[in-house]
Amino acid sequence: MPCIFCQIASKEISSELLHEDDDLIAFRDINPQAPVHILVLPKKHITSLNEMKDEDFPLLGKMAHVARELATKEGIVERGFRIAVNCGQEGGQTVGHLHMHTLGGRQLKGELG
Ligand code: 5GP
Ligand code: ZN
Repeated sequence: MPCIFCQIASKEISSELLHEDDDLIAFRDINPQAPVHILVLPKKHITSLNEMKDEDFPLLGKMAHVARELATKEGIVERGFRIAVNCGQEGGQTVGHLHMHTLGGRQLKGELG
């Protein structure tokens, strides 16, 4: 079965793309949990944190950097925001392609708020 985020990365499926570079893309979540809800992910298919190889880990730093830059563009960086990476079933991961949620624009509480 084709991976939906790979299809978004290859533009087979459209999204509201906010960032693209050689390694990463970012787009708005289709079902936002906050006024700002952006997903940042590697173009390379990595299923989850559990499948990351040692050489993949710099991607997480790049993802956090892009998340912070987009939070700045969205005007929420001073008020505060959240980045979150769900891993596996009990971690709440529903799409099996590593991604970082970037959430803000309202007061976030427990869980993912
Ligand atoms: P997870 O639950 O795996 O941590 O997060 C997956 C996220 O992907 C969910 O917040 C869901 O709304 C979002 N999502 C699922 N399918 C699509 C899609 O086709 N387009 C976009 N933009 N977001 C999606
Ligand atoms: Zn994928």
